[in-house]
Amino acid sequence: MSRDRDLLSVTGLVKHHHSTGGKVRAVDSVSFRVATGETLGLVGESGCGKSTLGRTLIRLHEPDEGSIVFDGMDITHLGRRALRPVRRHLQMVFQDPYASLNPRRSIEQILAEPFEVHAVGDRLDRRERVRALLARVGLRQDHAGRHPHEFSGGQRQRIAIARAIALEPKLIVCDEPVSALDVSIQAQIINLLRRLQRESGLSYVFISHDLSVIGHLADRIAVMYLGEIVEIASRSALWREPLHPYSQVLFSAIPIPAAPSQPRRHRVAMVGEPPSPIDPPSGCRFHTRCPYAMPRCREETPRLGTLSDGDDAQRRIACHLYEVE
Ligand code: SF4
Repeated sequence: MSRDRDLLSVTGLVKHHHSTGGKVRAVDSVSFRVATGETLGLVGESGCGKSTLGRTLIRLHEPDEGSIVFDGMDITHLGRRALRPVRRHLQMVFQDPYASLNPRRSIEQILAEPFEVHAVGDRLDRRERVRALLARVGLRQDHAGRHPHEFSGGQRQRIAIARAIALEPKLIVCDEPVSALDVSIQAQIINLLRRLQRESGLSYVFISHDLSVIGHLADRIAVMYLGEIVEIASRSALWREPLHPYSQVLFSAIPIPAAPSQPRRHRVAMVGEPPSPIDPPSGCRFHTRCPYAMPRCREETPRLGTLSDGDDAQRRIACHLYEVE
């Protein structure tokens, strides 16, 4: 599997919502890349903007600023018609598959729809493709005639995944796809996503608040706080040594023991409540809860950069405790 080129490149992405309380700064100047065949995990507390970011990436939300380059094409401002051929390569799997599956349509109809929309094959050919999709996601052929309510949560997520892979996409944004499932079913869905990635070189942006889930899938992890990426690094580097104070808080709370070869984690305490994304704190947005906050942190926004004296070129961090380039 090739990981030598960027499939997705996001630069300075901004997405603000308007609510009755004012402008919600959901995604603020976010930049990252995803390579072909790679899984980027996006983690952070509920409300940190990771779902808005996921939806903006596939243009379900219109970006306010910045650029999204997918497979060599700038898709930031593509119109609906020009976006259509791109969409088949850029799919999304949601947390609640039931909400995204039309309850009145059979599984055969639901899975045939992507082929109909993109005019792939004739009726007979689509039927064959649906059968093949069911087999790929571990469902039986006779499931084709049933309706979404006849399936368990895990099976419904398999159907949603089958629909997402129908057109052989290059990237799938997975937004909390297992968080509504029991732990044993979570493992099955994660294994399915990993197998599909091995088979077809897919890339994933995998959004979750659950680090133990992210740890099973992600090659790299981006940590988000109040609409910004505060640290991005390989999974192993973050697991071994989270550097940003917010990453330290998140990783110290993982409810699984660290591997014997890894240093013992000490619980890092975070103070205060999450600030409102309508009126985020000045300077470093984490300064109101950071145990290491300095006067400078209230005034000056830290820049996301590579550690000046680090030997990990993949790790970038936004914190005044570190010199970055
Ligand atoms: Fe804490 Fe300051 Fe670093 Fe922000 S910049 S995480 S407040 S030390």
